Amino acid sequence: MAGVLGGLPDSVLQFAYLIASVLFIQGLRDMTHPRTATRGNGISALGMFIAVAVTVLWFEILSPLVLAAALLVGGGIGAWLAVTVETTEMPQLVGLFNGFGGGASALVAGAELVDLTATGSGLPVGVTATAAIAGIIGSVTFWGSLVAAGKLHGLVGDSPVSSNVGHVIKAVCLVAALAGGVALVVQPGFAGGDLVPSYWFLIVAASILGIFLVVPIGGADMPVVIALLNSYSGLAAATTGFVLNNTVLIVAGTLVGASGLILTVIMCESMNRSLTNVLFGGLGGDDEMADRPDIYEGNISETSPEEVEMLLDVADRVVIVPGYGMAVAQAQHAVAELAELLEEDGVDVEFGIHPVAGRMPGHMNALLAEADVPYDKMRELEEVNPTFSQTDVVIVTGANDVVNPMANTDDSSPIAGMPVLNVGEARSVVVNKRSLSPGFSGIPNPLFAEDNTSMLFGDAKASMQELVNVYKENR
Ligand code: NDP
Repeated sequence: MAGVLGGLPDSVLQFAYLIASVLFIQGLRDMTHPRTATRGNGISALGMFIAVAVTVLWFEILSPLVLAAALLVGGGIGAWLAVTVETTEMPQLVGLFNGFGGGASALVAGAELVDLTATGSGLPVGVTATAAIAGIIGSVTFWGSLVAAGKLHGLVGDSPVSSNVGHVIKAVCLVAALAGGVALVVQPGFAGGDLVPSYWFLIVAASILGIFLVVPIGGADMPVVIALLNSYSGLAAATTGFVLNNTVLIVAGTLVGASGLILTVIMCESMNRSLTNVLFGGLGGDDEMADRPDIYEGNISETSPEEVEMLLDVADRVVIVPGYGMAVAQAQHAVAELAELLEEDGVDVEFGIHPVAGRMPGHMNALLAEADVPYDKMRELEEVNPTFSQTDVVIVTGANDVVNPMANTDDSSPIAGMPVLNVGEARSVVVNKRSLSPGFSGIPNPLFAEDNTSMLFGDAKASMQELVNVYKENR
């Protein structure tokens, strides 16, 4: 059925889709740098608005009233989430969005099959084959993402599990889903009926597969899994675009699929792990490794905000290295205030940002930007590493693995080969965390026992705020 714009030549629709696609590409390009990322988001959103608006005005998919109500409810929920969700909860929110994208693709492809069957237009192989692919990938993405988001939010147990029963269930579900796909292509629907039973069969099999694929993976690896599922959601959307013969959906889906895959590879490389190891290996030092008293015993020197203030008082250059603990404690504002005070007093202050610090790509950049730290103060690993030898004080707050020298010195460590911030080269290192507990990888950190390292034990926010107060008092 034609909508308000449906009477115009088809080239107008395609031109609008072309503009939307160009905006998506430009938006993605801008998102590659923190400085232009906000603009990139806006440009992509404009592209999506054009694509959605033109589509709903061109084809009368639903009555305008139902459509307006759906847009209002969906937009309202989106706006509410954007305002209320904490930055530390972003990974699970992104996971949920991916899941909804995958689920929507599977449902739209199914709806198109039902529609074509009901109108008696026939089900060409091109449509059934792509619908089967969209259904399988979309369902895996939906259920996999729900489990991943649940693990990150603490609703589902997050320890890695490996069981032969699980492997068998996965294999059976995969075979069943593929068999459903083949059946759909070979003999779509009941002759003359309006059901496409093989499609719904493959949806059920792929849904169980999605759950069993993600359940055994440890919660700590969920950010990588979410990036991968993001890529899957793009693939599902692109194949649904083929089902509907809709170019802008194909372009948008392909861009999401490709960028999600690139992000997954970058995350794996930054951790020096293979994707297979993330999906099937699990990470975590054994307890024996985490509890190595020989590394720390007698070698830990504890410090206080007052002593750190004295170090800062005579420093010309200070580098602050944030990590996951800064996000947990929400210490970014106190950290930013400290940097500002030091800068006002003529100290050269920079932030050393490791690509996988925190629990999602860009985690530290986003938090520091929220606290108004200028982007040109945030230095990437390759830029900041050569400067540590000319740095007077490094303050490591809530970071552990990303500053662990074991990555360079111990080939048997789980983080062996992972590029790390060589903070130990600075004159003094202050490490702020609550205890000597290991970080994500579960291994000890010899940096804490170095002669030039002192430990400022405490919650990152409380410690940084206290340091700010002491610094202000002694100015
Ligand atoms: P880590 O997980 O290595 O260490 C974080 C440290 O923060 C802990 O040792 C903890 O010590 C401390 N901490 C926790 N809460 C607080 C608090 N309230 N105040 C102060 N300190 C606190 O974090 P890093 O950022 O150094 O490294 C990130 C790790 O996550 C890497 O191993 C990376 O591979 C992995 N990873 C990162 C992803 C990403 O995209 N960024 C994705 C997947 C994995 P304590 O309990 O003693 O306070």
